[in-house]
Amino acid sequence: MQGKNPSGKRRRSALEAFDGCPARYHAVYNLGVEDKGDEANRGIAFHEIAARYVDRLAKAQTPMDRDELSLAVSEGIARAHCPTALLDEVVELTERWGTAFELDLDAYLMAEERQESARFTWIPDLVYVRPTHVEILDWKTFYRGYTDAQARKEFQARMYLLQALEIWPGFPEYWFTFVFVRLNYRVTIKVTPDEIETWRPQVEGILAGLEAAERSGEWPAIPGSHCGLCRLACPIVDNPARLPVRLLSVEERDRAAGEILAGEQRLKALKKALGSYVSKEGSFILNGQIFAQTPTETVTYPANEILEALKTAGADVSGITVSKTAIGKVLKTLAANVQAVLAKLATTKTGWRFGHKKAGADLDDGTDDE
Ligand code: SF4
Repeated sequence: MQGKNPSGKRRRSALEAFDGCPARYHAVYNLGVEDKGDEANRGIAFHEIAARYVDRLAKAQTPMDRDELSLAVSEGIARAHCPTALLDEVVELTERWGTAFELDLDAYLMAEERQESARFTWIPDLVYVRPTHVEILDWKTFYRGYTDAQARKEFQARMYLLQALEIWPGFPEYWFTFVFVRLNYRVTIKVTPDEIETWRPQVEGILAGLEAAERSGEWPAIPGSHCGLCRLACPIVDNPARLPVRLLSVEERDRAAGEILAGEQRLKALKKALGSYVSKEGSFILNGQIFAQTPTETVTYPANEILEALKTAGADVSGITVSKTAIGKVLKTLAANVQAVLAKLATTKTGWRFGHKKAGADLDDGTDDE
């Protein structure tokens, strides 16, 4: 794959790859080294199907259609050359997404059509145009989503919105929606042209760095979170003296999980033993860290009285919230209709946190309990 298209315009994915790790960019985009794992093949197949389904809906002028979805699945799979082992999962993902998806026919502009601005080329998954804004939607098959803050920092959203501003100028707002099809979750960032412009230096800086690397021929490996998806031989990350930053096989995955389980148990035991030691012998300092028994305080207030006191003192109490845990016991004693009314007042923030639990138990859903 080349980092530029035949007319010399930079691909968004190439620029993003260079920003992550110049060595990886050089291997994939200059030397043509293939580095596609299951996640990439799954994503490619999903996008092939989604593009065909949206195109079929637009041509048939219908927001959703089960038969068109089935046809799109067959066509997309044939075109994507998806590994057989991934087929069931891809079909399940597209069925889940497709049976809930409704095309906004009034706002529909295009799906999976390559766009070219003055210097860049990019392919938006779906574009809607409404009187007040342009919205770009992007399908993700990840196992975790982005929070609003993470979505705002994503290079893809920034780059696409900068290009949207150039190609479709004049709208009061531009929206970028990440749709996490596996999680049935989406996050939309809504920004004004002025906010989008503040991202321009980042894109220009990456482009300048890439041009400098092309002149100097220097492509250093820079490890980071992107290493998790990189399978290339790497002199830095593969150095056995370093802590691991990526796992490339099921065996490596299981070894890492086993080490976490054993390590956590050992850590717990060590903390308990050290706590007892410090209780008897006193605190000590090691490597700049003090190990000590320190008093802790948990301060709580009666909700009714504290709110009354704050209001009487003229304080603004509109931003004060209570956690689900704090009112959980009281909520359970209320009638169902009252619980339903109170549930409508709740604010839910979605996030993702890595963790493990006894199999069969629900994993943490990532909801912050504030
Ligand atoms: S493993 Fe990380 S640092 Fe090494 S080449 Fe891949 S992305 Fe770069």
